[in-house]
Amino acid sequence: MKTALVCGAGGFIGGHLVKRLKDEGYWVRGVDIKTHEYVKSTAHEFVKGDLRDPRLVEKVIDQPFDEIYQLAADMGGAGFVFSGENDADIMHNSAMINLNVMEVSVKADVKKIFYSSSACMYPERNQMDPDNPNCAEDSAYPAEPDSEYGWEKLFSERFYLAANRNYGIDIRIARFHNIFGPEGSWTDGREKAPAAMCRKVAETPDGGEIEMWGDGSQTRSFLYIDECLEGVRRLMDSDFIGPVNIGSDEMVSINQLAEMAMDIACKKQTINHIPGPLGVRGRNSDNTLIKEKLGWAPSWTLRKGMELTYNWIAAQVKNKRS
Ligand code: NAD
Repeated sequence: MKTALVCGAGGFIGGHLVKRLKDEGYWVRGVDIKTHEYVKSTAHEFVKGDLRDPRLVEKVIDQPFDEIYQLAADMGGAGFVFSGENDADIMHNSAMINLNVMEVSVKADVKKIFYSSSACMYPERNQMDPDNPNCAEDSAYPAEPDSEYGWEKLFSERFYLAANRNYGIDIRIARFHNIFGPEGSWTDGREKAPAAMCRKVAETPDGGEIEMWGDGSQTRSFLYIDECLEGVRRLMDSDFIGPVNIGSDEMVSINQLAEMAMDIACKKQTINHIPGPLGVRGRNSDNTLIKEKLGWAPSWTLRKGMELTYNWIAAQVKNKRS
């Protein structure tokens, strides 16, 4: 039986990953500073603890795991990452986790580590035109991320690559592009655009008004959680180290995203555009490299994932009211 440790197992992607690995027959230990808000962990063992603490990391990486999935990070949606108020915490907390996990993994003779980087590490200058963003993997340098969250991801990517060269530990790195789906943040201030739009549409009656940060013409692509995990597992089983984009290349404006949520809900609402933190003007996954290296790329439509997500969030809204 293969063994895996999922760091960040109490989070959105980590929670889903634990289920997927168990379904594949792995023995899974999960670790997180908190338990999952929406589901009980299905991990064989779940350790609640702080990965910034080296003693805790030694406790959870106490054996030569076949695979470690390092997803733990201090993160959130635009409201958390772009306000500027959390910059030092984001850099400090996530870097500490990555430094600790690598150091102990090398000592424990761990076979392979997956690291979740982010599209937020791409240079701001290539994402000013909402219709033509460039997020090809080799466009990363000269570096110019638009957030400290992106700078930390870039540092940690380089750190994992250096550890691979110097300590011989096998690694895989993916740059996730806006992953969404059920069982993720939807109302705690860390939610991303798909969840935020679904919540606002679900909470507002037909004919009402929803608020949106900015003019809504900024563009993004969004990848449904199941496809993200498919990409992660394929990358782990391949011999390609990365970094590689794991994202959708179906780019939409935030206005279109809101209209899609309204259409799914069978509601007609107006949008009130208000000032708020926005991030870059345009971002889309470039899937040329993943197709070349893995012979695969995500293929679900945004609509399919949004329908599943809307239904889950609408049920949460209903539960909260009752
Ligand atoms: P999430 O916030 O739901 O999960 C991250 C988890 O890490 C949380 O449960 C959090 O409690 C945990 N964590 C934070 N600090 C910790 C600490 N000191 N000790 C132990 N656990 C700690 O986020 P997610 O959406 O599941 O993202 C997982 C990873 O993927 C993150 O590294 C994130 O940067 C990356 N990523 C996500 C997206 C996305 O769209 N969701 C996009 C790009 C990159």
